[in-house]
Amino acid sequence: AYDFSDRIGRVEPSATLAISNLAAEKEAEGADIVDLSVGEPDFDTPSNIVEAGKDALDAGHTGYTSSNGIPQLTEAIAEKLRGTDIDADADEVIVTPGGKQALYETFQTLIDEGDEVVLLDPAWVSYEAMAKLAGGDLSRVDLAPHGFQLEPALDELAATVSDDTDLLVVNSPSNPTGAVFSEAALEGVRDLAVEHDIAVISDEIYERIIYDADHVSLASLDGMADRTITVNGFSKAYSMTGWRLGYIHAKGDFVGQAGKLHSHSVSCAVNFVQHAGVEALENTDESVEEMREAFADRRDLLVDLFDEHGIDVDVGDGAFYMMLPVDADDQAWCEAAIEEASVACVPGSAFNAPGYARISYAASAERLREAVDRLVANDLL
Ligand code: PLP
Repeated sequence: AYDFSDRIGRVEPSATLAISNLAAEKEAEGADIVDLSVGEPDFDTPSNIVEAGKDALDAGHTGYTSSNGIPQLTEAIAEKLRGTDIDADADEVIVTPGGKQALYETFQTLIDEGDEVVLLDPAWVSYEAMAKLAGGDLSRVDLAPHGFQLEPALDELAATVSDDTDLLVVNSPSNPTGAVFSEAALEGVRDLAVEHDIAVISDEIYERIIYDADHVSLASLDGMADRTITVNGFSKAYSMTGWRLGYIHAKGDFVGQAGKLHSHSVSCAVNFVQHAGVEALENTDESVEEMREAFADRRDLLVDLFDEHGIDVDVGDGAFYMMLPVDADDQAWCEAAIEEASVACVPGSAFNAPGYARISYAASAERLREAVDRLVANDLL
């Protein structure tokens, strides 16, 4: 009865959600699954944020807001962006229901049928889907042979982009690798973007989860202010995945154009959630730091555990993921991991990185040890 659009036929369901769903199904059947497939912090949302959300509900903040967001939040976001040297004003911000929606709106605003979008592999699963939904054609540069770093791959990037390239997506710290790109790498991106007049999405959602490196916002580099769409969100830094809150910042007419799609689709982000977002930005540094330290400890633990079994991982300086080389078909390996060892991870192929499994270390030290023990016991490591 349905004549589905060509557009929807171009994409597959999210591979990460598929694994999480399988893990949840097995758990519902009574299995004890160590779920290392999830893309969300395992902490509660900090209590002051929860209280701010409740207070906003009690105060009756339950109606529509202005489409681009409540002024207190767009102001707080602009202030936050200025903290990483982005020249930002509140009226250059759109508050969205999650970073995902911010990215979706950006692709829809910039990409026409046949436009070239360049991804750096391994790339987060949804970039490809969003580019295809907008009609874009993908070109890719593989960072896997370079320890997932961008700087050594700049020549390949230079050979890939051209005056025909419309959009490049940069995600540092990276999901799925945890890699944080060096300032020199970002300057390399800048030089190419300026030379070929390319717009760049800088997805900085893991910005606050960073270890022995400093975060550099791409839009802060000379020449990038007018060609960077900075996307960020509250899910990861503040453990607010289910609240659905994110944003776009870009200069010029971007917000005017993307705002049309925003107002005709979601209208606005949830009112009381936006109030909670103000609290997150203004009063949560301590909890963010505690979570960051916990992630750092878990990362180090996992590296040590793999090392004990002779496995060397190219561990990154941010986010809460690492790519485990599995020396096998990664789909089959991940299936065996969940079926035999009751450990859930995401096949690298989902990120265009066959031969790896993405491990999320948003899990307790005890569960991480348990996962490695089970994988070893089942000859998977
Ligand atoms: N960007 C990256 C790289 C992500 O990993 C995610 C979530 O997994 C998002 C964006 C979107 O997150 P949210 O929509 O929860 O803000």
